[in-house]
Amino acid sequence: MTASRTRSAAAAASVHEHGWITASVHATSVGHVRYVRCAGCGGWRVDADVATAAPPAAVSRVVV
Ligand SMILES: [Zn+2]
Repeated sequence: MTASRTRSAAAAASVHEHGWITASVHATSVGHVRYVRCAGCGGWRVDADVATAAPPAAVSRVVV
């Protein structure tokens, strides 16, 4: 990947609303950890899905 492509992906990540798709889920002692990927910009994020009724919440920043 070239530097200019990396910059354009980072710029895209900051200007649109991400559409997260779960790539993998791993069980932990407090719930699940999800590795999610944005269908729009290809960014990655890690979400914690604890055993409550609340929706998954981000535990990392977006990585592109
Ligand atoms: Zn995105």
